[in-house]
Amino acid sequence: MTDALVVVEDLHKDFIHMGRTLEVLKGIDLNIYQGEILSIVGPSGAGKSTLLHCIGTLDLPTSGRIRLGGEELTRMSSSRLAAVRNREIGFVFQFHHLLPEFNALENVMMPGLIRGRSRRQMAERAAALLSEVGLSERATHRPGELSGGEQQRVAIARALALEPKLVLADEPTGNLDSTTSDAIHDLFFQINREHGTTIVVVTHNPTFAESMPRIVRMVDGRVFKDDTHRRDSASGQSPPGGATPGESESSADASCAAAPDPG
Ligand code: ADP
Ligand code: MG
Repeated sequence: MTDALVVVEDLHKDFIHMGRTLEVLKGIDLNIYQGEILSIVGPSGAGKSTLLHCIGTLDLPTSGRIRLGGEELTRMSSSRLAAVRNREIGFVFQFHHLLPEFNALENVMMPGLIRGRSRRQMAERAAALLSEVGLSERATHRPGELSGGEQQRVAIARALALEPKLVLADEPTGNLDSTTSDAIHDLFFQINREHGTTIVVVTHNPTFAESMPRIVRMVDGRVFKDDTHRRDSASGQSPPGGATPGESESSADASCAAAPDPG
C-alpha cells in the first residue's frame, strides 16, 4: 500500500443554486492508496457524495486537482474521462440502478457489452462474478425477482465486470436491513482481499465504518479527520462483532443509519 492510486489536491466544488454560490467542497486533500479499503463518513450534506462523484469523474470540480493512477483527471476531455471511468472505476450506489428488463447475468454483462466485449467473454465473466457474490442460483432472475440484498450483490458484481482498479460505493447498504448489510459489508472486504481492488465506501453504518482500516471523516466540505489505524489495509477483516460506540460528531446521521446496532 505504498502507491497513491488517487491523489486529490485542494479540491473545491461550488454549486450555483438559485443565483447563489454554494461552496460544497472547500479544499479537500486526500490520497487513496492502491489496495486500500476505506470509509468516508460524516453528516448529511458534508459533501461525501460530491467528493465521490468528482473522484469518479461523474462530476467536475470547480478547482483543484485529481490524479488517478498518475493521470490528471482534471485536465481531461469529457471523452477521455468517460474512457477512464469505464476502464478504471466501478460504482455501487444506494439504489442499485439495475436494468429491470434484463436478468442478473445480463445486468453484470452490460458494462462489457457496452464497451464492445464479446457476449461469450462477458457471459463467462458475469457468471464467475455472480458465483463470487453468492448468486449463481439467481443468474436468470430479473431484479424484480431478487431481494434487496441480492440486487445489491448483482450491482456489486456489475461494478467489477471490467476489473476496475477503484470501486466507489455511496451508501451501498443504506437501503438494507442490518443482517443483509453485514453480508454486503463482508463482500466488500472479500473483494478487496481477493482482487486487490481499492475500495472507498461512503457509509452511515458506524460498525462498518469502524471495521475499516481507515476512516475519513468529512464535515462541512472539509476532511475533518483522517484516521489510518489498527491494521494494514486489504487485511480482509470482518467487521468486529460488538457495536461501536463512537461516531459522536456524526450523531445527526444516526437517524439515517440503515443498520442500527443492536447494542
Ligand atoms: P452528502 O453526500 O455528504 O450528504 P452531498 O455531497 O450530497 O452531501 O451534498 C453536499 C451539499 O451540496 C448539500 O448541501 C447539497 O444540497 C448540495 N448539492 C449537492 N448536489 C447539488 C447540486 N447539483 N446543486 C446544488 N446543490 C447541490
Ligand atoms: Mg450522499
